[in-house]
Amino acid sequence: MQLIAALFLLLSSRVLLIQAACGCSQTSSLSSLVINNASTTNSSNKQNSSTGVVIQIDDMLIPIEDLQAPTAPVRSDGSSSDQASSSSSNSLPSSSYLSCRRLWPKGRLYYRFGLGFPSSYRDMVRLSLSRLAARISSASSNQQLVTFVESNYFIDVQHVEVIDDVGCYSYVGRQSSSSSYSQALSLQVPNCMLESIIQHEFMHALGFYHEQSRPDRDSFVTVLWNNIDSDECNNFLKTSYKLTNDYPRYDYGSVMHYQSHYFSCLSGSKTLLMKNGSLIDERNNLSSLDAEKLSYTYSSTNLAYCSTRSDAAFEFASKVLTVANSKAKEIH
Ligand SMILES: [Zn+2]
Repeated sequence: MQLIAALFLLLSSRVLLIQAACGCSQTSSLSSLVINNASTTNSSNKQNSSTGVVIQIDDMLIPIEDLQAPTAPVRSDGSSSDQASSSSSNSLPSSSYLSCRRLWPKGRLYYRFGLGFPSSYRDMVRLSLSRLAARISSASSNQQLVTFVESNYFIDVQHVEVIDDVGCYSYVGRQSSSSSYSQALSLQVPNCMLESIIQHEFMHALGFYHEQSRPDRDSFVTVLWNNIDSDECNNFLKTSYKLTNDYPRYDYGSVMHYQSHYFSCLSGSKTLLMKNGSLIDERNNLSSLDAEKLSYTYSSTNLAYCSTRSDAAFEFASKVLTVANSKAKEIH
């Protein structure tokens, strides 16, 4: 009997060791990570040669200065973009802080494959980007608002370097630095080789955060904090209005939205539900609203607004971009 009891205790302790700790107490915003110096849970804090300190939240790499952005610019209508916009409003929002600073001028995202990225998977990335660009175009009366430009020869041009690293991740938005023009975007082979994941990571690169991290998300979803793996709490923090595109319509079907079971500490438990209790299911492609948001963000009206800003923080369109290789391949 003692042996059985000992075995039970041993098995129990193994279960405890395997099972993730449950529950999160932190319900503040991403900006609090700056105050906490990113010391909690699984967010990492590392030095990046091009942008200084970068905080990693799930698959998003965020320069610390973005989280420290002190003030939001005044919108064209005179209000601050820090002010919450009405979620029921049908009017398009004015540009917010990050949607200017981190956008790609003229909607041209330059990229290349790292040397170690398998050749056999490159066409899949190209096809996913082609479909992404086509969806944006179809959402904007066939205007070519976003173009993915591939080349192997970039000189002084900010570009995404697609690498086969551990996991799938990307910087949020276009980075800029005088010391480095390359920003990593990892698509681990074969785990990240799904169209939805490829488009998800490139949407990060285009400047978008996770949909459920919107500052107004609590009006649309319920976060079940007690069911979240304690090491993953920061993944459920909210952004502030100065960090995100405060587009009025919430999108449960966004390719940027977590599913209901993400980061649960117990098998079968849920961490995120719609306000009416419904599950948020898997999505395999860009949603219509994703395309609409991209179309709005990279519209000529929005880009023109961004280019007129004279704030030091707005480096948008201040540099004439050139591609050394005239044979750069454009994906439309
Ligand atoms: Zn992501």
